[in-house]
Amino acid sequence: MAAYDFNDKIVSIPDYPQPGVIFKDITTLLRDAEGFQRAVDELSNHFINQGITKVVGAEARGFIIAAPVAYKLNAGLVPMRKPGKLPREVYSQEYGLEYGSDELQVHTDAITKDDRVLLVDDLIATGGTAVAQAKLLSKFGATLVGMAFLMELDYLNPRKVVREATDCDIFSLV
Ligand code: 5GP
Repeated sequence: MAAYDFNDKIVSIPDYPQPGVIFKDITTLLRDAEGFQRAVDELSNHFINQGITKVVGAEARGFIIAAPVAYKLNAGLVPMRKPGKLPREVYSQEYGLEYGSDELQVHTDAITKDDRVLLVDDLIATGGTAVAQAKLLSKFGATLVGMAFLMELDYLNPRKVVREATDCDIFSLV
């Protein structure tokens, strides 16, 4: 298959949601049928045959990518949600964002220590969210096999902070 320019399909929005922030809008990739299909295929193919049993996606954009990747990998889908959204007992983790701070929660019975987990999100910027997800996951004793993103803002050097939390495989399309 010919190379596909995913970057070409992602739009940069200056000063959104705050002045000084350049927001990468991935909805322009998602709306492109070929782009969306190729993105899901490439992320899934990178982690195929690695025995992934659970794919974890964080609210909200992470859900969009995690769900089709889980389906392709024949894995279960685990939503990490904002506080107050999950009805049963949860583990929680606070984290810092490129702009502001937030908290993620996951059901305590969503993952077992025998699971092989892939974390999926649309984008990694500072790496704060990914580190929080890895910390949340460590509470289950499961194996974190990898992290998959549509886009990695390498000028923010997120791998440096993620590497302090995990040595799992980090794979980004752009
Ligand atoms: P980090 O924690 O790595 O700084 O930020 C990554 C998280 O914030 C991801 O969950 C991602 O959805 C969101 N995020 C931060 N900046 C952007 C951006 O420019 N575009 C998009 N689509 N998401 C972003």
